[in-house]
Amino acid sequence: MYTRQVTNGVHIHTWAASEWKDFYGKHLGQKVFEDQSNTEAWKGIFKVEDEEIWNMRMTLKTKFINFVKRDFKAKWLANQGDPSAVMKIVDKINPNALIIGFARRFATYKRAHLLFTDLDRLAKIVNNEQFPVQFVFSGKAHPADGAGQDLIKRIMEISRRPEFLGKIIFLEDYNMIVAKRLVSGVDIWLNTPTRPLEASGTSGEKAEMNGVLNFSVLDGWWYEGYRFNENAGWALTDKRTFTDQGQQDKLDAATIYSMLENEIIPLYFEKNSKGYSPRWIQYIKGSIGDIAPNFTMKRMIDDYISRFYDKEAARYKKLSAKDFALAKEIVAWKEKVACAWDGIKVFDINTSDLTSSNTTGQKIKVNAIIDTNGLGKELGLEAVIYKMEDGEEKLWKTLPFKVVKEEGNVLTYEHVGTLKDPGVFRVGYRLYPVNPELPHRMDFAYTRWI
Ligand SMILES: *Cc1c(COP(=O)(O)O)cnc(C)c1O
Repeated sequence: MYTRQVTNGVHIHTWAASEWKDFYGKHLGQKVFEDQSNTEAWKGIFKVEDEEIWNMRMTLKTKFINFVKRDFKAKWLANQGDPSAVMKIVDKINPNALIIGFARRFATYKRAHLLFTDLDRLAKIVNNEQFPVQFVFSGKAHPADGAGQDLIKRIMEISRRPEFLGKIIFLEDYNMIVAKRLVSGVDIWLNTPTRPLEASGTSGEKAEMNGVLNFSVLDGWWYEGYRFNENAGWALTDKRTFTDQGQQDKLDAATIYSMLENEIIPLYFEKNSKGYSPRWIQYIKGSIGDIAPNFTMKRMIDDYISRFYDKEAARYKKLSAKDFALAKEIVAWKEKVACAWDGIKVFDINTSDLTSSNTTGQKIKVNAIIDTNGLGKELGLEAVIYKMEDGEEKLWKTLPFKVVKEEGNVLTYEHVGTLKDPGVFRVGYRLYPVNPELPHRMDFAYTRWI
């Protein structure tokens, strides 16, 4: 979707549960493993019987619940002391509940606390007998991150309150084994980062290849992922409403509760006589068929190769040919420019055609007389124009000048144009070195504003 950065992907062989891998091999063919970024190969999921997908989900959900009962019962008994409370938690884990997972590093920008903004509303959600919902949290904070550790403490305290016991479950010692069971065993993967701080959020990509649906702020990978199919998961807008983070947190929390209550929970419990919601299965098919193949490690490597490595290899070939002839030439040129740079003199710049009340359709001429100190046409001049939009100044255009006269070292630069766009603008002028052999301007980022 974008060409100037590469979005992370995840390794199917590591992160798809072995049950899903067998399933994909059987229903979609080996192509999904041999050519993982081939989106067509994944479309076979849409032809699979709904019931088979549901059975797979239930198998993995049961496996996850058994893992929690087996591995965490002993741990909780050792840590919490009260055996009756521990047994209550274990008994309450319900494969028929909608299980929502949230596991990550407890860096504060991930906002693990968001769900706990309105405890009364949360208690109503998890204690609805007809539509049971459970949350499983896991995560670790950096040893030096006191705020992150306090957050874990707070979640553990809340999870021990009577109204949340067995409904909000915290799994200690988050690691890759816990992560693997979670991203394949829950129904929904929740991510609530502070915009725009999420670098990627790869655990959500792991969930996709296990038929686990994402519910996340449009940030990191989900900003792109959600757009492949907007009926295969849920999103909180990427736009901030408040600059104040506290206000924004309240709004996001209210949006999460309301989407759960009005959209997500009813959809999950729209169960047919066979015990599943056909529309939920459509969501799962969309997430596997339309979203998952775009976030595999193969797609990531494809992107690195086509956007960067191939270009780098071609550039290296060009620079190194004939005993690095071009590389040496560029180095010599850079040294020349560096020596001459401070001796450049601006004699005059005439911007009198530009006033505070120009009208559209008006012709404008700007010229400048500059002593290039020997650089000649290797010294470029451009106008950088900012436009006021929604109370903010945004880079709008850069316009190159032409050299119209050359007298020894002294060059006259000119730009002639017609004003076409209305608005409020600010214009700056800058000199820069010109060499078509540079891969890009930032390779030699000399600039002088005049
Ligand atoms: C995938 C993974 C992560 C990264 O997940 P994010 O979604 O980026 O927070 C962190 N820890 C473990 C154990 C993982 O498996």
